[in-house]
Amino acid sequence: MPVAGRAGISSALIVNDRVFVIDCGRGSPSAFANAGLDFSRLEGVFLTHLHADHAGDLAGMLLYPWGVRVGDNGPLAPIRVYGPSRPEALPAGDAVFCRETTIHPELPAPGTTDLVDNILAGYAYHLNVMPLDARMPDAGALVRAIDINVRARTDGITQVPVIVVDDGVVKVTAVAVTHGRAVPALAYRFDTADGSVVFSGDTTVNDDLIALAQGADILVHQVADLGYLERHGITGAALERMAALHTDVTQVGSVAERARVHELILSHYLPAERDTITDAEWAQRAGQGFSGKTTAGSDGLRRALPRVTS
Ligand SMILES: [Zn+2]
Repeated sequence: MPVAGRAGISSALIVNDRVFVIDCGRGSPSAFANAGLDFSRLEGVFLTHLHADHAGDLAGMLLYPWGVRVGDNGPLAPIRVYGPSRPEALPAGDAVFCRETTIHPELPAPGTTDLVDNILAGYAYHLNVMPLDARMPDAGALVRAIDINVRARTDGITQVPVIVVDDGVVKVTAVAVTHGRAVPALAYRFDTADGSVVFSGDTTVNDDLIALAQGADILVHQVADLGYLERHGITGAALERMAALHTDVTQVGSVAERARVHELILSHYLPAERDTITDAEWAQRAGQGFSGKTTAGSDGLRRALPRVTS
């Protein structure tokens, strides 16, 4: 749900002058501008999963800055959008949590490439007509989508991270995490000469994420307070569902400790309303059992990687 005073989940990683965005939750294009980042430097978007709270503002992230995606030699290289591929099967529900209407039954569980294709299709009017009234870069150069094929976890078998990008400067690896029936849902690790950052996406406590994050400088991790939800009427099967989707505030510190990261930065709060739980309280509670530094993330928070020299 949109809440006052806090944007949705979206992070940016800047490596030299290159900008990578991880998730495009609510308000991400505005947050990008507020952070003083340059849309002409946006190189890649990495979606952890295709729930709307992580991908809902992808269309704006691609379309609003279209006009600046041009240089002296024509259109800039396309923005690359990486994310989950189509799942192998449409998950089923049960008696309590079931689907009544299947939307778009001909392709009921599209992947990232499908999502981007459909954004372009839905905005074909804008893309085809606007260049007649304003000088625009070739729309065909705007975006390229890449599906990441990560095998769903098989119990007891450790995942080998998938290499998503490795260009000698930035290496991006991903593993599937556990987020209810959102399969696949991904976590990403970025390794650079300046340092390493891991983004959890949405997940329960997950050994493959902990392995992926080993020794990272920063772990950006979602956090939920399931006890708060229970005190506010989410009980029984509904609470169990929430516990199968998210890492609780009582668990995230031990995740960071086991991963031996240097700093845990909390993000994507549940509940998100700022007047329910203070940042200080989130950090204090989440940091239990973690010997490193715990920071309650807030919109616009910045960190320099430890080995940045300029
Ligand atoms: Zn989420």
